[in-house]
Amino acid sequence: MTTDNLPPFPSDADLRRLVHFSASDGRIWLAGHRMLLLHLGGLGSLRKELIQTIGFEQTRRVLKRAGYASGLRDAALARQVRPNGSPFEQFTVGPQLHMLEGAVQVTPEHCEFDLEKGSYHGLFRWDHSWEVEVHLRDFGPQTEAVCWMLIGYASGFTTAFFGQQILYKEVQCAACGHDHCLIEGRPLKDWPDAAQMQEDYEADSLLVRIEDLQADLDSLRDSLQPCDDLGDLIGRSKAFEKSIGLLRKAAATQVTVLLTGETGVGKERFARTLHAMSPRAAKPFIAINCAALPHDLIESELFGAEKGAYTGAGAARPGRFERADGGTLFLDELGELPPAAQAKLLRVLQTGEVERLGGTTTRKVDVRVVAATNVDLQAAVEAGRFRRDLMYRLNVYPIAIPSLRERVEDIEPLANHMLQHFMALHNKRVAGIADRALDAMRSYAWPGNVRELENLIERGVIITPPGQMVDVEDLFAVAPPTPQVTVGASGELKRGQSEDLGTLYEELQKRGLSLDALEDGLIQQAVERAGGNLSAAARALGLTRPQLSYRLQRIRER
Ligand SMILES: [Zn+2]
Repeated sequence: MTTDNLPPFPSDADLRRLVHFSASDGRIWLAGHRMLLLHLGGLGSLRKELIQTIGFEQTRRVLKRAGYASGLRDAALARQVRPNGSPFEQFTVGPQLHMLEGAVQVTPEHCEFDLEKGSYHGLFRWDHSWEVEVHLRDFGPQTEAVCWMLIGYASGFTTAFFGQQILYKEVQCAACGHDHCLIEGRPLKDWPDAAQMQEDYEADSLLVRIEDLQADLDSLRDSLQPCDDLGDLIGRSKAFEKSIGLLRKAAATQVTVLLTGETGVGKERFARTLHAMSPRAAKPFIAINCAALPHDLIESELFGAEKGAYTGAGAARPGRFERADGGTLFLDELGELPPAAQAKLLRVLQTGEVERLGGTTTRKVDVRVVAATNVDLQAAVEAGRFRRDLMYRLNVYPIAIPSLRERVEDIEPLANHMLQHFMALHNKRVAGIADRALDAMRSYAWPGNVRELENLIERGVIITPPGQMVDVEDLFAVAPPTPQVTVGASGELKRGQSEDLGTLYEELQKRGLSLDALEDGLIQQAVERAGGNLSAAARALGLTRPQLSYRLQRIRER
């Protein structure tokens, strides 16, 4: 039916007959539904407190959904009450009950629907909205519509009546200075901003919202925490505790510290923590990655340069040693430092003075040096790539940081910590990490260590739909990590499903191959057979492309 010349509402006598005051047992009924007679002032103050506690936005959502739930219930009555009425007469049960319940006065202005085609368009005038009345009293004139529970009711009723999602908007609201409110309803698909409108009706409980905020807060608190505790360093394994114990002892002293360990174990985090636990905490922490800078730049970066010291040195500038004065200088990937810079570094460590490139004067610096390397410095010395005297100077207090394989029991707390971090970062909430995924993580070899774990967790947070658990396939892009041979927590070989492992193991023994050598060989073989196509090689090995890259990098570093 379609008309702008709408017939008047039928009598609501049939609806009024449905109301029963059951005085003897303290209940009021509308057909089969228990109702309440409330003071507007009482409901108004509840609404006001909600707004003051959780804000306009959240209150709007809560009340819209509450209204929607009422509308749904009343729709169930519509056909039941007027079995012989026209579709319009049946439909008007909604607006008429809304009026009977005291919510608002409804006048239809336009109503057009086709039950078969599922099309709908309705315009209704609202007067005396209870929400406008309490809202104006409590908050004064508004710029946005406030009839939230009423709009929810209209949407819930119409949706249930037509059996398809139909949502209403307030085209104008009396709370914004208009003479009356005007609402318009259309099927969800006909609204250009459907997604946004529907959001208000999604059943995210307030609790989830609060949990979200709590998680964000925790994560912010973490990042603000002065690292007099361990900050980002998380773990309870023996191997981890041992390195932390050494770190704590070094913190109070001025000793030069050398951090060793595989790629990705978190050397910079250890260095930052050492700095934060030290008496130098209030002074700068300056980091430099010796492998990341071209050889001809590294000296000026470290020691500074006077104007015109080299082509392009337009102005004099201090090096990182000077900038770290009073604090800590972290030299990452120290093994990559070129020979000339090694000689200069040794001199600075011996004298405590730096001389800028092209300069003639020396400057005293008070810097605690923390160096890190993932290459065997001793071997680099033997090979003539690293100065022996510099190695001795730096190797006063070595701390070996365990690989993730050596601290399997830390994987779960680390993963959960990272999960919180990335949920806050990406403003997204997942339900946690599935046990299956944790199992897979515990049996994986982690060539890229904590950094690889971090990448995987971030990927998991991005891929997993909101509210669901991060599962194996969200973490590992190509295949769950079921390598045939993995190394266990204390270095033992763990068997995959294959029966051939025994044979493979004996072959390894016979040839005197180490596991590392076997792995390197397999990886190189795979890359070769894939014609250098790393993605294909990764697939062949059941790895992700980044995982293969980590391993290749590790081979190059050996
Ligand atoms: Zn309104």
